[in-house]
Amino acid sequence: MQGFGTTIFAEMTALAVRTGAINLGQGFPDSPGPEAMLERAVAAIRAGDNQYPPGPGVPELREAVARQRVERYGLGYDPDGEVLVTVGATEAIAAAILALAGPGDEVVVFEPYYDSYAAMIALAGAVRRPVTLRPEGGRFTFDPGELRAAVGPRTRLILVNSPHNPVGTVFTRAELEVIADVCREHDLTAVTDEVYEYLTFDGAGHVPLASLEGMRERTVAISSAGKTFSATGWKVGWITAPAPYVRAVQTVKQFLTYTASAPYQRAVAYALGHELGWVQGLRKSLEAKRDRLVAGLEAAGFTAYRPQGTYFVQADIRPLGFTDGMELARALPERAGVVAVPSQVFYDHAAAGAHFLRFAFCKRDHVIDEAVERLAELR
Ligand code: PMP
Ligand code: GLN
Repeated sequence: MQGFGTTIFAEMTALAVRTGAINLGQGFPDSPGPEAMLERAVAAIRAGDNQYPPGPGVPELREAVARQRVERYGLGYDPDGEVLVTVGATEAIAAAILALAGPGDEVVVFEPYYDSYAAMIALAGAVRRPVTLRPEGGRFTFDPGELRAAVGPRTRLILVNSPHNPVGTVFTRAELEVIADVCREHDLTAVTDEVYEYLTFDGAGHVPLASLEGMRERTVAISSAGKTFSATGWKVGWITAPAPYVRAVQTVKQFLTYTASAPYQRAVAYALGHELGWVQGLRKSLEAKRDRLVAGLEAAGFTAYRPQGTYFVQADIRPLGFTDGMELARALPERAGVVAVPSQVFYDHAAAGAHFLRFAFCKRDHVIDEAVERLAELR
């Protein structure tokens, strides 16, 4: 793991704590999840639900996940054998990559990519093949030719994150069809990171890759209660996939953590069954916050890319006369009292991302307003 150091999220959050700056770096909400879900966790602890739950996850959560996948996407999964509860999406990503990629295998990723992908590909001894997402007509997308060129005889896996952190793109059905074509043609497995599946805006609906023709049988899909129910500290996630994949991922998972926290699984099972209305409210509120932050960043002089989903806005710093996002991110607390994440750490081709900062908008309105007022002083 030499060269991986400290994650940018830990570094930037520590910087915010040390300087007292407003933290629009690490993506975590500053408002709680649904009250009844929180009560369920407390009740589960009080009721004595404090010992190891079953390795694959408590049955009521696996059943709730299977119901959610079929009701929302028309995708049927057997709660016994095709659903696996994990310690957040992070463990799902880790176990999936370790299970499905070996030394010398190549893994295609869209850059910028979530930082744990690179670390886990390295731990697997595999090699990442990045395909760059670039702005085109106000949103980030990829060149199908570049995707095809990234696939070779050693390619085993493709990692697909939609809605995408940090660029905020929700892949259209047409973009997903291109990815699906490549997977079918080259017999690849897709690992889809869908942690922002509910957090989409302006009617941009999330389409799971597994719902495309011939893809269910070759897709491992990943979700997270952290994002859907604003409980990032609970670390409850899950995968849905055909049974042989789930067996392989569980074989790894059992030696990483064996199982995930019992009382939170119960509370999340309840929330998936009863609180999706609350999630719609969260989605609406985030849409307004997105507009608030985009407007504020534009007024401050950045070029802001309006995301179709997630918690994040990509902002180009060049109109303000800056070129190095890392340098600006490190100076920003002193200069403006705000913390953001330099997107370049999510790229192999650092030059493609050198001039972007990622700002999170999963914050109370007055926090966003104060941050953009401070950023206006940068001019
Ligand atoms: N994937 C993406 C794209 C994320 O943004 C995050 C967390 N912010 C994760 C995975 C990790 O999710 P979890 O907190 O459930 O481990
Ligand atoms: N996923 C969140 C983000 O992208 C935080 C992740 C973390 O702290 N590891 O900001």
